[in-house]
Amino acid sequence: MTAAVAISAVHKRFGRVRALEGIDLTIGRGEFFGLLGPNGAGKSTLINIIAGLTRADAGTVAVLGHDVVNEYRPARQALGIVPQELVFDPFFTVREVLQIQSGYFGLGAANEAWLDELLQALMLSDKASANMRTLSGGMKRRVLVAQALVHKPEVVVLDEPTAGVDVELRKSLWEFIQRLHRHGHTIVLTTHYLEEAEALCDRIGILNHGALVALDTTQGLMEQGIGNTLCVCITTAEPVTALPSALEAKLKERDATRLVFQLNKDSDSIIEVLDSLRTAGVAIVDLQTVEADLEDVFIELTRTRSEVAGH
Ligand code: ADP
Ligand code: MG
Repeated sequence: MTAAVAISAVHKRFGRVRALEGIDLTIGRGEFFGLLGPNGAGKSTLINIIAGLTRADAGTVAVLGHDVVNEYRPARQALGIVPQELVFDPFFTVREVLQIQSGYFGLGAANEAWLDELLQALMLSDKASANMRTLSGGMKRRVLVAQALVHKPEVVVLDEPTAGVDVELRKSLWEFIQRLHRHGHTIVLTTHYLEEAEALCDRIGILNHGALVALDTTQGLMEQGIGNTLCVCITTAEPVTALPSALEAKLKERDATRLVFQLNKDSDSIIEVLDSLRTAGVAIVDLQTVEADLEDVFIELTRTRSEVAGH
């Protein structure tokens, strides 16, 4: 089956900056894919290459089987791109922005009904005649989303659509994107809100310094490394001086009367830890457990090599 987006051995440099260092990634049709990574990781560069806005130095990208360079038009036709930057001509109205984009895809008056639907779905109907310059940042963001969808593209790529957007709009954008996904669109979303990726994406790729450092289902990623651990925070009645060595090995942090153990979900048992503490004569006054979340996994995977080496 043809992939929605097939990326093969893509490299890109900007002068001395290596923005992408050999990306191989296939996104299936109908997937909800999350592309995560810290600032400067290369997410927007990769999206701009998919969109045909930036040329890769090496490697290929195809959208629904169409090479984004050699078959630019059909590739672009299959894609809706919501760019990270809000760039508009301030003197156009919302409807004009959408009409111009429609025209770009060769769609004329026949597309007006769809534009109305888009305006309504994105709660922009009453702003259709407003000039772009009068809109708030959140509304401009919604116009960008509508603009990406004028030609009903199968693959929708959103570059940080919820960055700097208030909680309410973020939630309504989530619902809107989920609706697109339910209707069969392939979604590629970059975000730095980890809880957003955790809630929405079926599969996640993590970029760091231009390389894909993780690629897995969201669930699979959450069970990797630190994701497969559980922190047990124990408050003791008295300061604890000595612990059995088996427990000492599982200690993550300690204060006078506070012990934090990091347990492996598969091989460690809280009951055994509590039993050993009791045997060692430790009186427990409080116990809390904290599961690692996607944020912990992300931080672990995107620490730079020098941090890992302790520099
Ligand atoms: P992200 O979207 O993950 O924050 P970008 O793809 O925007 O990352 O940037 C990746 C790296 O490439 C960064 O170091 C950035 O400074 C650099 N970069 C991106 N675009 C350009 C450009 N047009 N000229 C020079 N450097 C760029
Ligand atoms: Mg970016």
